[in-house]
Amino acid sequence: MKIAILGAGVTGLACAIECERLGVCADLYERDHTVGWIWPSVSYWPSIFFRDTGDIVDYLKKEYKMDLNPLGECKNIVLKSPNQTASINGKLGYFITRGKGDESIESQLKRFLRKTAIHFNRNADYKELSRNYDWVVVTTGNVIVPRDLGVWEDEGLVRIMGGVALGDFNHESATLYLDTSYAGSGYARLTPFSTTQAIIGLYTIGCDAFDTERLFSVFLQKEGLTNLEFIYKLLPPPFSTGKVNKFQVGNILLAGRAAGLIERLLGVGGPQGIISGILAARSIINNEDYTKQVETVRNHVDNISSFRKVIEKFDNDDYDKLIATLNTPGIKQIVYNTNINFVDLAGRILKHMTK
Ligand SMILES: Cc1cc2nc3c(=O)[nH]c(=O)nc-3n(C[C@H](O)[C@H](O)[C@H](O)COP(=O)(O)OP(=O)(O)OC[C@H]3O[C@@H](n4cnc5c(N)ncnc54)[C@H](O)[C@@H]3O)c2cc1C
Repeated sequence: MKIAILGAGVTGLACAIECERLGVCADLYERDHTVGWIWPSVSYWPSIFFRDTGDIVDYLKKEYKMDLNPLGECKNIVLKSPNQTASINGKLGYFITRGKGDESIESQLKRFLRKTAIHFNRNADYKELSRNYDWVVVTTGNVIVPRDLGVWEDEGLVRIMGGVALGDFNHESATLYLDTSYAGSGYARLTPFSTTQAIIGLYTIGCDAFDTERLFSVFLQKEGLTNLEFIYKLLPPPFSTGKVNKFQVGNILLAGRAAGLIERLLGVGGPQGIISGILAARSIINNEDYTKQVETVRNHVDNISSFRKVIEKFDNDDYDKLIATLNTPGIKQIVYNTNINFVDLAGRILKHMTK
């Protein structure tokens, strides 16, 4: 069986690993000269989004034999709106290193591969691969292929302006800033690399590059972060958010971000990428229906994404009320420190209400 995987990001690597485990060596094509994002970064895997599976790092290990080393545990989240702050403590998820360094999740996954050839510097064409291989798994992390296949449903452009700042940080704590004056219905986030470095980013929705850059300065000023020294700042090309209406077209399977498997509230998609990559490999090799296999992941992403429709209507008073409510005794406990699958449950209800 000849399998080509297009893109050696977390999804493509997970797919290749599972192919090997099931006895098939895939050809993995990567346009870059090595694995990992060009800009070093820290992803956040919030535990509140993974109540359905329990501890996500344990789950990936037990269920999918992916034994990954996070950068660290998130034990505190600070939520800030213009006039309110909530500080939440608990087992709140993981920080994950991204990029080309040895400890990045991409490098960790690459080390699991024993026999698979990664063809670097190959900006492969999916149509050509689909003629030459039995199966092609598209894991390019962008919407070019799904759009070309006519299966992409667009839900807007996200721009990210951010960089690595030097300062004095709590390496177990992330801060989420919610303020429509600079973020609109997006948000800003401070995620620590270490006690001295943090990734600080503003996620805007539907703004152009010029505006996003300007709003990033407003954000730094409003939140008292102008004293931080940035090692670098970046404004990468925008990302399309949305979903696919088909996960498979002929012998082409879509997985990870190329399949829209990134929730549209905060942009979390790492675990869904890994899982969908594995499911694509299993479906092909075990002759199973990929669309059915990936349904749970898609529903999970859709449930969380339903919160976006609500957030889009929020003004700063609503954010203040939301955070004040989180500070009410008992509420924080219910949302963050119980095992109730709060986000999926509420999301499922919202999905029906906003249909
Ligand atoms: C700025 C940003 C912040 C994020 N933060 C978080 C977070 O905090 N938590 C979280 O869980 N998720 C986060 N995500 C989402 C998460 O990073 C993605 O869901 C995840 O990277 C998806 O993995 P992927 O392998 O599908 O795509 P990618 O990681 O983008 O990998 C795609 C790979 O395909 C390669 N490629 C593309 N086109 C071709 C081609 N034609 N030929 C060959 N190779 C090709 C690329 O070079 C790349 O290596 C964030 C995403 C972004 C962009």
